[in-house]
Amino acid sequence: MNILSVIINENETFNLSSLEIFSFIDELKCENKITSIVFGGEKSVIAKIPCDEIVYVPLNSSVALNPNDVLFSIDKFMDNNLFDLIIFQKDDISNYVSPALSFRKKIPYLPDVKKIISKDNKSFKFVRPVHGESAEGIYSVDSTSPLIIKIRKSSFEPKQLNENEKPVNEIILNKNLEKSFKIIETKKIKPKGIQLDDADVVISGGRGVGSSEGFEKIKELANLLNGAVGASRAAVESEWIETSQLVGLTGKWINPALYFTFGISGASQHLAGCINSKNIVAVNTDPEASIFNYSKYGIIADCNEFIAEVIEEIKNMNKRVVQIV
Ligand SMILES: Cc1cc2nc3c(=O)[nH]c(=O)nc-3n(C[C@H](O)[C@H](O)[C@H](O)COP(=O)(O)OP(=O)(O)OC[C@H]3O[C@@H](n4cnc5c(N)ncnc54)[C@H](O)[C@@H]3O)c2cc1C
Repeated sequence: MNILSVIINENETFNLSSLEIFSFIDELKCENKITSIVFGGEKSVIAKIPCDEIVYVPLNSSVALNPNDVLFSIDKFMDNNLFDLIIFQKDDISNYVSPALSFRKKIPYLPDVKKIISKDNKSFKFVRPVHGESAEGIYSVDSTSPLIIKIRKSSFEPKQLNENEKPVNEIILNKNLEKSFKIIETKKIKPKGIQLDDADVVISGGRGVGSSEGFEKIKELANLLNGAVGASRAAVESEWIETSQLVGLTGKWINPALYFTFGISGASQHLAGCINSKNIVAVNTDPEASIFNYSKYGIIADCNEFIAEVIEEIKNMNKRVVQIV
C-alpha cells in the first residue's frame, strides 16, 4: 500500500504527537511504502521520522500559515505521486485541508478515526464517534481505492523517532494563486504560557464561573500549578476566555494527568475533548451534573468560593515550604 502521511507543524518545533500516525499505520498490518510530507518543524527531527521517504516543506515561522497553501502543495504533490491512503492527524490546519483535499481529488474522506477493527483484502473497518460523541460508528470502507482519513489525536501511541537520520527531499510551499477567494489578513498569535496540548495539568472553567473576573482565578490557579487554562464553549461564547482555550469536540483534545473543572456540566461535546484525562476533578453546585460520572473526585460547592480557598491553601503551603527551607 502506498501511504502518504501529512504532518503540519504550525509552530517552529516538530509536533511529536503526529508520530501517532505511524502507530496507526503499523496497526493496519499490511505491506506499506510510507511517504511523509512535513510542513515546518526542525529538519534534524524530521529526518528521523519512521517512514520510507520524507518530503519537507519549509515554512516562514514569522508569517501565519495559510491553510490553502498547504492544500495546494499537497494537491500538486499528489498529481505526481499516487497514494492509496492519505492520513492526517486532527489539528486546526488539517481540519480545513483534509476535507478540501477530498473534494478537489474526488477521494472519499473519513475523519476522526479512533480505532481499527479489521482489515482484509477488500476493506477496512474503522471506528469513529457519531452523534456528538454519544455513540460510536463502525465504518466499513473499500481498501481497493484511494481514501483520505484523519485520525483522532491521542487515540494511538506515538511511535518512536528513528535513531538515524534519513535523506530529506525539500520542496517549496505552493502559494495559492486561485482568484475565487482572497484571504485579506492572517495574524500569527504567539502562544503564551503552557499550551493546552502539552500541559500535564489543565484548569478549566465553564458557565458556572460566571464572569471574566472569575476566569482570572482560573488563570491564577493554573499558574500556581504550572498548568494550562481550558474552557467550555459556554465560557468561550460569553467571551470570558479566548477561543484558543476551548476544550471539546470543536476545540482542543487533551489528555493531561489532572483535568480540574469549575462550573462545567460535562456535556458530551465537552467530554469528547477531555475524556482521555488521567484524573478528572470537578467542582459543581449540582450533584446530578454529568461531569461527576467521569470524575475521580467530585466537589459539590460554589466554584468561585472553592477556587479561592484552593488558591489560598496552595499559597500558604508554598509559604510553609519557603519557611522550612
Ligand atoms: C456541534 C456542537 C459542538 C460543541 N462543541 C463543544 C466543545 O467543543 N466544547 C464545549 O465545551 N462545548 C461544546 N458544545 C456545547 C455543549 O453542548 C455545552 O453546551 C457546553 O459544553 C456547556 O458548557 P458548560 O458546561 O460551561 O455550561 P452548562 O452546561 O450551562 O453548565 C454549567 C454548569 O455549571 C454549574 N454551576 C452553575 N453555577 C455554579 C457555581 N457557582 N459553582 C459551581 N458550579 C456551578 C451548573 O450546575 C452546570 O452544571 C458543542 C455543542 C454542539 C451542538
